[in-house]
Amino acid sequence: MRYLVISDIHGNLTALDAVLEDVGMDTIDQVWCLGDVVGYGPCPNECIDRLREFSDYLCVAGNHDWAAIGRISIAEFNPSAQVACRWTAERLSPDNIDYLANLPTRIVVGNCTLVHGSPREPIWEYIIYPSTAQLNFQFFDTQLCFAGHTHAPAIFREETATRKFEISIPVPSSPILIDEERLIINPGSVGQPRDGDPDAAYMVFDPDSKSVEYRRVPYDVDSTQGLMMEEGLPESLISRLSFGW
Ligand code: ZN
Repeated sequence: MRYLVISDIHGNLTALDAVLEDVGMDTIDQVWCLGDVVGYGPCPNECIDRLREFSDYLCVAGNHDWAAIGRISIAEFNPSAQVACRWTAERLSPDNIDYLANLPTRIVVGNCTLVHGSPREPIWEYIIYPSTAQLNFQFFDTQLCFAGHTHAPAIFREETATRKFEISIPVPSSPILIDEERLIINPGSVGQPRDGDPDAAYMVFDPDSKSVEYRRVPYDVDSTQGLMMEEGLPESLISRLSFGW
């Protein structure tokens, strides 16, 4: 089995389609989406529709998915995110509002747990530092946990020799072998990377060969930015896509 692991699409259909083409969907058995399908980008309905076209996929809810349907307050969002959230909320089709409302916050599949933020607090918590990861290892029972939300690819592990929790930043296109260790794995963001690289990020997980491969793919950033300008979305959200921050 091969799983495509994607997160934080954020209404960026051009980036999502670039990922799907790059990975080759005929090589994928199931898609795992770690939430924030909408928010920020110009194509919220289209991104949900694209997910729903997959014959086999799993998806958890993210904070922007819940904010767009009014389930959580946007008071803690920055001003640009608030504008984009209101814009998204006004455009979501009734059917897609229903769809987002029914997403689970956590899915356990085989030896993996899927969440948006963290296993301890699936909607809101950011796992940025090893200290946060360390606290979270006791909140899932599977060997692996896939989490997004930070928009920055990372792998957290406990070093067996030192018992210290560490973070490593994966190198694109060089598969990482997974043995018996427990890991928290973040595939980065498809639609709004924040690690200084504007290319869309994703991972392919293959439990049979016990490997996870992290990949980046360029997409037509100008096209997404053009759509955002047409819709009058905030300038800061448009320009950040050029730089990946
Ligand atoms: Zn996000």
